[in-house]
Amino acid sequence: MNRKEYEESFPNYCQNCRGKGIFKDLSKPSFQDCPECLMKNICPQCAEKSKNLILICDECGWDRNSSPRGLPDK
Ligand SMILES: [Zn+2]
Ligand SMILES: [Zn+2]
Repeated sequence: MNRKEYEESFPNYCQNCRGKGIFKDLSKPSFQDCPECLMKNICPQCAEKSKNLILICDECGWDRNSSPRGLPDK
């Protein structure tokens, strides 16, 4: 899937982390869960809300442990 196809498939993906679910805060040494989606229990990819911390999204199959994920670079 290329970038355009991704955007068409998941128009609501998180702009803050580009659907990756992790976010690099320049003031901190490591990646952290994205405050705009994962930290609110919202899927980074399809924006579906969950009661629980999202590891794998039931709606779109987004998987926290799979790589690559989120918006493709190209
Ligand atoms: Zn996000
Ligand atoms: Zn999802």
